[in-house]
Amino acid sequence: MLKNFATYLGSQALTPRDYFEMNWTLEPYTRGCPVGFYGPGTMVAHGSAIRTAVDRSHWAGTETATYWNGYMDGAVRSGERAAPEVLAQL
Ligand SMILES: Cc1cc2nc3c(=O)[nH]c(=O)nc-3n(C[C@H](O)[C@H](O)[C@H](O)COP(=O)(O)OP(=O)(O)OC[C@H]3O[C@@H](n4cnc5c(N)ncnc54)[C@H](O)[C@@H]3O)c2cc1C
Repeated sequence: MLKNFATYLGSQALTPRDYFEMNWTLEPYTRGCPVGFYGPGTMVAHGSAIRTAVDRSHWAGTETATYWNGYMDGAVRSGERAAPEVLAQL
């Protein structure tokens, strides 16, 4: 696995300082579920509110993405949206 990481990240990945392993099914709130979802009708009724800034509070995170929400792709996209929002307000 380390060789695989090194292929993408460079030889420094061959000598990790630490290692963390987790049994996601023991996580008390999600029980291992990788993606959160809303109940029926919630997105239609309230979907736009999830990204609307409130005063100086801006919302990011994969749940706010309009594409691939719930996944890493959505997490990155949400950051790319939220960061300029904040910068524009500074
Ligand atoms: C078991 C599992 C498997 C998955 N597999 C895949 C996969 O194969 N492919 C894929 O694309 N996605 C996968 N995902 C989903 C992916 O991991 C998430 O979509 C992504 O990590 C979300 O990123 P995020 O930045 O939105 O939120 P997070 O990664 O959840 O980051 C939120 C951060 O905020 C911190 N935080 C929370 N509250 C506070 C607070 N009050 N103050 C300060 N910090 C706070 C948290 O500690 C956390 O570090 C998986 C998820 C799980 C759980």
